[in-house]
Formats: sequence, C-alpha cells, structure tokens
Amino acid sequence: MKKKYRISEIVLDLMFPPRCPLCDHVIEFRKGDICGECVKRVKPISGSVCMKCGKPLEEEKEYCFDCKTKKHLYVQGISAFEYRDIAASIYRFKYGGRQEYAAFFGRCMARKLEKKIKQWKAEALVPVPVHPSRKRERGYNQAELLAKEIAVRTGVPMRCDIVARSKKTMPQKSLDGVQRQNNLKKAFKILKNDVKLNTIVIIDDIYTTGSTVDAMAAILRTAGVKNIYYAALAIGRGQ
Ligand SMILES: [Zn+2]
Ligand SMILES: [Zn+2]
Repeated sequence: MKKKYRISEIVLDLMFPPRCPLCDHVIEFRKGDICGECVKRVKPISGSVCMKCGKPLEEEKEYCFDCKTKKHLYVQGISAFEYRDIAASIYRFKYGGRQEYAAFFGRCMARKLEKKIKQWKAEALVPVPVHPSRKRERGYNQAELLAKEIAVRTGVPMRCDIVARSKKTMPQKSLDGVQRQNNLKKAFKILKNDVKLNTIVIIDDIYTTGSTVDAMAAILRTAGVKNIYYAALAIGRGQ
C-alpha cells in the first residue's frame, strides 16, 4: 500500500530534499531511506561470520583469527554493516554533524538485533559513553543516538546512568593494539554500583579490535552485570 504524505511533508521535501545517508546524494522524491545505487551497493552483513565478534569471514569457520588468539570479556556481538561499505557515511555521522543518520542506522541495527535480543535476554542497552567535553564539541554522542533508536524499536530500555567516560582518551584509530588497551585503561567509570541487571548489550558505532567493548565489559562486571554482549553499526573483515 502506498503511504500518503501530508502537504507539509511535501513542502519540506522540496525545500530540503532528503539525502541518502550512505552516499549523501539527493534522493528522488520519497523513494525510501537510501538511494537506488546504495540499495544495490550496500548490503547488511550476511553469510559466514565469527561466532564471537561477528566479523564477516571469507571461509566457513567458527572464529576469526583475532578471537582465536585473544580472550574477550563479552559473550558475543554482532554488527550491521561492513565498515568499508559505509566508511564515508560513518565519518559524516560522527564528525560532520549528521545526527539525522541515526534513524536509518538505528533501524538497521534493530532489525539485525531483533532475534538476538530475545535469545540473549537483554535487559538494557548501554551506549559507549564519550567524554562530556567531546559531546559538547560534537553536540551529541553517536552511540547514544543509535541506542535510542534501537530502544524504541526493540522495547529494550537504554541506560546512560551506569557507565561514564572518566577521561578524554586518544582517538583509538591512531593507535595499535597494545596502545589501544593502555589508552582505555581507566577510561570508564561506574556511576552506579549495584545495577541489578544480568544482561546488557553495549552499543557502539564501530567495532575494530574489541578493546573498547572489553574495557566497558570489565567495568560493567565490577558493577555486577553478568552477561555482556555488544552490537555495532559497522565492523571490519576478519581472517
Ligand atoms: Zn546513496
Ligand atoms: Zn572474531
């Protein structure tokens, strides 16, 4: 059935034509969330993935090289897209003020998470916090925007009152594995000591080595959370 549009929506579209959140080109009049080219080009992750971190794998096997060699503190995680497919879009979302992308990205993550959230018995979504000064600079925390969208669609509440960023860390992407871990030590602090939650899902935009999720998982465990999962918007390819 075709959706009916109000005059105000049509006028708004003419004044501010909707842009594709993936390629930033103007979308022809209300054809959908993303443009036709991106529908063809960008697909959510499917096929063989690492059973631990959810990285797409070239061949059918249980775990990626990373997860075979490293012990993670979370139980399992999934991501919606491959990073290389949406890298430019994530950059605009994080640094270019395009917070409106959260609606589309959050919806994609919620779709991906639906079954898992039931399977995991998730009680809360906890976005990776940013330092207040960084949030002021950017005007928002993109992980929080994603978690908010997922919460609306899955009914699992978002909790921002459990963990906070205790110091401003270096951007993770400029560091190697060991530096990343050191950089994140004491990066988070617990705001609530007895949170009375068994199972939570950490929400982030990008999963790279897992050190951010592990650092959060470590501190959430000290607050009594037993099972920690994660969901990210994008992830790299595994070996
Ligand atoms: Zn597009
Ligand atoms: Zn893995």
